[in-house]
Amino acid sequence: MRGWSDVKIARATGIPRATVRDWRRAGVVAEASRATCAACGGAEHDPLALDRPAYAYLLGLYLGDGHLARGARDVYRLRIYVDARHPRLAEGVAATMRRVLPDSRASLTPHRTDHMLVASQYSKRWPCLLPQHGEGAKHLRPIVLVGWQQDIVAEHPDQLVRGLLHSDGWRGTNRVVVRGKAYDYGRYQFSNRSDDIRELFCVALDRLQIPWRRMNRWNVSVARRDAVVALDALVEPKD
Ligand SMILES: [Zn+2]
Repeated sequence: MRGWSDVKIARATGIPRATVRDWRRAGVVAEASRATCAACGGAEHDPLALDRPAYAYLLGLYLGDGHLARGARDVYRLRIYVDARHPRLAEGVAATMRRVLPDSRASLTPHRTDHMLVASQYSKRWPCLLPQHGEGAKHLRPIVLVGWQQDIVAEHPDQLVRGLLHSDGWRGTNRVVVRGKAYDYGRYQFSNRSDDIRELFCVALDRLQIPWRRMNRWNVSVARRDAVVALDALVEPKD
């Protein structure tokens, strides 16, 4: 009966569940073994136990500009590059990795050449948490979220948008001169070569009721004044 739940033992034996539980505590019956994940060998994944807003943000960052690489003994390293001019943002990225996978440490190191900070974390669990991992560039293969990921991004579209904009987004200003007077309007642009990833961005904006416009093949723009105000409240600047 090792590995059986109290309920299963109670049903099979006719002994009340409370009695089985007392026996377990007393060591009469072996502890039910925790189920393990066949892919990574860790405890079975429970999407409900994840820090879901942190996950939605991290997924956006990963889909935008994250790299997952397999190392020795099937330990994977997740890396997210942040421009070195935005150290606070980079610290936030490393902290988000820790919130998603609290068991392993995330580090932040300067990149050797590129004026970048690299937030990274090693774990065997990343491929299960980021099943979009695969060979080749993300825009050359389909990027389809699995059911539990779809649930999370539906719950936290703001965090997905935040992650995508922090990695592949840009906020600029349009200056319009009317009768000699200059007016500045903020504008967001999201640029990604994967049709699937742009679609995820646009669906999340629709959920937030933020209007967007397709600019050209790889770019989506948010430029209406109320929409920019809504995004400003959601996406803190990259400093
Ligand atoms: Zn796993």
